[in-house]
Amino acid sequence: MSLFRKKDEAEKEKSSHYLTGREVRAIAKENAAVMRRLEKYKKRRADESEFRTEMRDPANILEIEDLHSYFFTDQGVVKAVNGVTFSVPQGSTVGVVGESGCGKSVTSMSVMQLLQAPQGQIFSGSIRFKSLDFKRDEKGEAIPIWELDENGEVIKDQALDKEGNPRVDKNGQPILIPRQKVDEYGTKLYEMEEKVFDIAKMPTKEMYRLRGRQIAMIFQEPMTSLNPVFTIGNQLDEVTLLHVPGATAEDARRRSIEMLNLVGIAMPERVYKSFPHELSGGMRQRVMISMALAGNPRLIIADEPTTALDVTIQAQILDLLRDLKDRINGSILLITHDLGIIAEMADYEVVMYAGRIIEQGTVSEIFHHPMHPYTIGLQKSKPTMDSESETLFNIPGNVPNPINMPDYCYFRERCNRCIDRCKGDYPRMVQVSPTHFVACHLYDEEGPDGN
Ligand code: SF4
Repeated sequence: MSLFRKKDEAEKEKSSHYLTGREVRAIAKENAAVMRRLEKYKKRRADESEFRTEMRDPANILEIEDLHSYFFTDQGVVKAVNGVTFSVPQGSTVGVVGESGCGKSVTSMSVMQLLQAPQGQIFSGSIRFKSLDFKRDEKGEAIPIWELDENGEVIKDQALDKEGNPRVDKNGQPILIPRQKVDEYGTKLYEMEEKVFDIAKMPTKEMYRLRGRQIAMIFQEPMTSLNPVFTIGNQLDEVTLLHVPGATAEDARRRSIEMLNLVGIAMPERVYKSFPHELSGGMRQRVMISMALAGNPRLIIADEPTTALDVTIQAQILDLLRDLKDRINGSILLITHDLGIIAEMADYEVVMYAGRIIEQGTVSEIFHHPMHPYTIGLQKSKPTMDSESETLFNIPGNVPNPINMPDYCYFRERCNRCIDRCKGDYPRMVQVSPTHFVACHLYDEEGPDGN
């Protein structure tokens, strides 16, 4: 018997990831308490002042600061996003790049508050977003913008009943109603005001104000994102009906068809009546983009928007996104593992590794002067026309276990430029130019030769 126990213990020593049943139960109990607390926090009733804040830089539309998003599993806490800080300037495209599992999609899901609850939670940090919200009266109703004549008087129209006949009051006088201003798609306009919200502190219910209208998301696989049992029209109309106060079914239909037109779909009336399975992959992705645009978002999060498409359709979709971003004067947070897409689309690039940002800067800085050994490795692994080598470069080794992250540089086991200091603490972010930052001991004040 003692022989078996010794064997067990030896095996346990061999694997640092071994957990006994008792340990698993203790972790699960501890995690359940944290998840309950975080879920309760999201479901609380909160006054707007609790999650209103200010931007650090008014030129930004999104500022993520020291974000920690965790998954609470029975084996331990997976720190999928572990202290991420970056901003999206208004009107620009920021590309987030890194290998699978580095935390780029979890970052974007955190911005939308769409982490798989209760296991997935925003644990701490701030996500500041500059939203354009409806101005509300004392009753909480959105304030319409009325159309004025040349004398500044509100234009009034004859009110009609459901059959289209003129409505009259009890004295037989015609009932007049003020005419509301509409945009180019015929959608009614309301007074708006800028408000900055901290999404990490917003209750889930309040998030409906931003999700779909202010921040829209384009997912990588349109077939799994569109509902197969509803027509494209049903699904597109829903966005307008949900997010535009007072929109009628006819307003929604007109806007949906305009949106389909905008993303270059031929015969939009026919596509409006089609089901997702009747469309090709490229058309479905265009529908997803039109759905994202239907709420007039200020920020579009595109999570691998072209992964499921073939190369020619990829190029068309990227052209379309670039064109639309300028037309709606929006900003894009582009998540991808494809450096080619970043080079083509983005103004700024953020490189993530194992839940942390290891380098960020303008696209030209990262492509022409990569500094972190991981970014240099990523660049080298791109196939090029002038390469003489028959095999592609790959970065040896694996990402460390996300449950037991070391306290030194996460890239140390794979790095070919290690120095003595790499055995110490995790490197802090060093600024090498006004826009270029890198987290690596080679660029500390001590330099690569210091101890
Ligand atoms: S800190 Fe050290 S181990 Fe980490 S990437 Fe830089 S040189 Fe490599």
